[in-house]
Amino acid sequence: MGQPSRGMGGIRYFRTFIDVEEEPMSFPARAQSCPPANAEKFEEDLDLAAYVSELPGRAQEMKSKLTPPPSPSPPPRAPRASVPSLGSRGHPDLCSRPCIFFPFGCHLGDSCTHCHADHAGRSARLDKRQRLALQALGERGLLMLLLPHFRDRAAGAKVAPHTQGLIHMLEAALADMDQEEDPDVLSLGKKLEGVLSRMSLASLAGLVASRRFSRSSLPQRVQGELDRLRSVAT
Ligand SMILES: [Zn+2]
Ligand SMILES: [Zn+2]
Repeated sequence: MGQPSRGMGGIRYFRTFIDVEEEPMSFPARAQSCPPANAEKFEEDLDLAAYVSELPGRAQEMKSKLTPPPSPSPPPRAPRASVPSLGSRGHPDLCSRPCIFFPFGCHLGDSCTHCHADHAGRSARLDKRQRLALQALGERGLLMLLLPHFRDRAAGAKVAPHTQGLIHMLEAALADMDQEEDPDVLSLGKKLEGVLSRMSLASLAGLVASRRFSRSSLPQRVQGELDRLRSVAT
């Protein structure tokens, strides 16, 4: 898992390269085996490895597009169209991260697992300190912090009528947790709240789905709900 992967063409990548938004924090040596909660992370790593392995070919492709042969009367550049892709399903609430190749031309077309629809500005993502702060919160604190954002984003989503299952799932999980002490959620600061309030429903779900919960299949069930909502949205 933590080993560097080698893509084709000699490009190496480490897990912190390109994107770490949904990366769960690693716990100090718990078990040598791969627990079920890590299965999705493993798939994501594979996905990312495949993505990175395409970089040399795509860079070449982009280069050829950036230096077109001279033409006496070049046609006016067409406005960027929103071409749907696999990763665009449920845009803008449920789609995957925006495709970084799309502005130049993504050769994967509609089979690309990243979003090809327009995203205004950069998508909100947590910095390292914020991710560590969320990790330090624990499971209950995380749900207490995220639930208001889940409710807000679910209510505003195109698939709002279908999001009750997800919200109830999170509420039930929170209610089932031991209430030994209330985590100090408020001390995390407005900056973190600001990022969370700009995150999409899919990004919020990713924060739970990529987390390892003790004695709970909540991450897997949240991922299942996200997949279901995406299929409803398309
Ligand atoms: Zn999108
Ligand atoms: Zn793409």
